[in-house]
Amino acid sequence: MFLLGLSFVARNGCVRPCRPAANFLVRQVLWQNARTLTADGRKTWEDWRSLGEKANIVLIGSPGCGKTSTGRMLGEKLGMPVLDVDDHCLEPTWGCTVGAKLKEVGDLHFIEEEGKAVLNYTMPEAFVISTTGSNPFHAKAMLKLSQSGLVVFLDVSKDTVIRRLNKMKIDRIVGQNSAITMSQILDYRQEFYERWYDIRVIVEENEEVESIATKVSKAVDQFSNAEGFVSSRGNADDIPRGYVSFLDTVLQGLAPDGGLYVKSKHQPKFTPGELRRLVELDFRERSIRILEQWTHPLDLRPQEIRSFVYKSYKPHLFTCPEVAPVRRLVHNHYTLELFHGPTASFKDAALQLMPRFFVKAMNTCSDVSKYLIVVATSGDTGGAVLDGFRRHAEGARVGVLVLYPLKGISKIQHHQMTTMEGSNIKVVGVDSDFDFCQTLIKQVFSDEKLGEALKETLDCRLSAANSINWGRLLPQVVSHISGYLEMVRMGQIPFGQPVDLCVPTGNFGNILSAYYAKEMGIPVRRLICASNTNHVLTDFIRNGVYSLQGQTLQRTASPSIDILQSSNLERLLFHLSGEDPKTVRDFYTKLHREGVAAAPKNVWESIHKQFLAGYATEQDCKDITLSTFRATGYMMDPHTAVGRAVACHVGDPNMPTIISGTAHFAKFIDKILPFFRIGQQNHDSLTVGELINEAEALARQPVRHPYLEDMVNKPVVHHDQLPCDYDEIAKAIYDFAAQL
Ligand SMILES: *Cc1c(COP(=O)(O)O)cnc(C)c1O
Repeated sequence: MFLLGLSFVARNGCVRPCRPAANFLVRQVLWQNARTLTADGRKTWEDWRSLGEKANIVLIGSPGCGKTSTGRMLGEKLGMPVLDVDDHCLEPTWGCTVGAKLKEVGDLHFIEEEGKAVLNYTMPEAFVISTTGSNPFHAKAMLKLSQSGLVVFLDVSKDTVIRRLNKMKIDRIVGQNSAITMSQILDYRQEFYERWYDIRVIVEENEEVESIATKVSKAVDQFSNAEGFVSSRGNADDIPRGYVSFLDTVLQGLAPDGGLYVKSKHQPKFTPGELRRLVELDFRERSIRILEQWTHPLDLRPQEIRSFVYKSYKPHLFTCPEVAPVRRLVHNHYTLELFHGPTASFKDAALQLMPRFFVKAMNTCSDVSKYLIVVATSGDTGGAVLDGFRRHAEGARVGVLVLYPLKGISKIQHHQMTTMEGSNIKVVGVDSDFDFCQTLIKQVFSDEKLGEALKETLDCRLSAANSINWGRLLPQVVSHISGYLEMVRMGQIPFGQPVDLCVPTGNFGNILSAYYAKEMGIPVRRLICASNTNHVLTDFIRNGVYSLQGQTLQRTASPSIDILQSSNLERLLFHLSGEDPKTVRDFYTKLHREGVAAAPKNVWESIHKQFLAGYATEQDCKDITLSTFRATGYMMDPHTAVGRAVACHVGDPNMPTIISGTAHFAKFIDKILPFFRIGQQNHDSLTVGELINEAEALARQPVRHPYLEDMVNKPVVHHDQLPCDYDEIAKAIYDFAAQL
């Protein structure tokens, strides 16, 4: 029985271990539910459409969460009749109070009795239904309720519930007279509520019933009138299924008109009170609540999000329990350590999760049976994409082909990629530099003949999975919101205190995510955009003019932000122009034609209100690395150092500033060692193992990265190299796709 209990919790999608003290309840519910374990609330668009006007709104949640009062108020608001399961179904059926019934049949039989009563009850139509706290325990009865409409979970904090229950002297909670504390009972119950809801409504501390009912009604409205993503260039009207979901954007990347997908009109947003509720949660639970805001439950069930998040942010993949902890550096400067994932850069936060979205999207909204993701990389992207897809998309028909330049890739990055094993990945060196690899990739994606051959003969499409993809942006939004909440949780700032977020950026991806984090409600004074000597973005933010004229790419110690064309900037232009696709089109037409384009005055003014920008020279990067290390013993990677240097130049010393720590320093130790000129030796001759040893000897903070160390002893498994020739590369792509 006990073993069964564990497996029950696991198939529930909850990784939370079975608490010993709650075993009594597990056993008891199992006993009653043994025949209906597989039932859950899965609904499709078809189910929903066929319900139409008849759909009920079913409120679930802990005892004392306010289902009854909210239900009444909601019924009034929406002009819908209200059914209270306690008052209108159970008590008339039993001819006694719920408390009396519980006393009569005891904990062990109560849920079965309750389930029976609900199953025998004729479900009304177009009602607001307030369930009992224990309805979600009985799978069959709950399935019936769930199939009758939309299930809304009133998520109230445990403390509030306990406070209310003590006040109300409640006598009808299963288990409350056993040796288990109310807190344990509520923890345990949470898993059942999480299993059934379509929409979660986060209830604030001391929130009035009126306000909760308004929220529910808004949420129901948004559910019924699903608003998808639109193109930033506004020309993608002919959408096959009428609405572009988050999963569609993950699969497609670019919009059909070449624009980027954006949300218009209703941007997902938390109230301060809702955000405050997230402070007490860990990274995974925060992720679930944030991701839910961007997805429609009929496209991606909240229960799937939960399962994806728990599988992706596992303790053995992210080697720090907080996943993305915040550390204080000096005075008001903090760093958000985003590098505890398997490839030691911030990209892991997105790429350990995105493949799960991708596979789900392939299974639900794709017109082909397989995908090949092609990436050109000189750095962190390749490793992170390979690692994500080999771990989280195994068995699905999606592969990754990475092309890296034989010239100009660091030893550590090279070793990291070429030692990765996986049946769906391939890594190929191209006898050229990174610029050529990038040109090559562009050619691959615009090669119609190749595209057709892949589609017609292999039923396969290409994808880029690059940083414009929502599957990559969203998890980074989570990181930034979580960073702020960590500051509050650690007691570094009071809730509500504004901060600056400083992000070293190249493609404007991670800082755009920080912008969305701000838009979702965390109090940010300024977003600080940090560049290295490739400072096109700094100039743009300062002057409103984006100019590629006369620009050549500089090679720096922070190679992952050596970028001149920042794709994600397009989204910012869209939002700050008041969601005007014409502004975006004009800007990019001009930039394309003349190599220079100016943002309209209103856009630039808005940028100025929200952003600061600066760039670090190579000397700045070195100086700040050394001074920070000497003052604190903490070693920043060169990208993080660019961030801190810029925060020092343009930030406000009195403002708490969270600097994105985008990589573990050991990954870029070849760039850092020359800063220290240790022994004046020639660092180029060091092996990967020697480099990692040097890193370990150099600094103890941040903690060693176990994945980087493990990698050293792994054998190289990818030996393929290709000449600098398009046809050969196109053939390699086709051949690999054929194997998938
Ligand atoms: C990719 C990367 C960046 C830049 O990310 P953007 O999405 O361009 O903002 C910064 N630092 C490191 C270490 C990276 O790998």
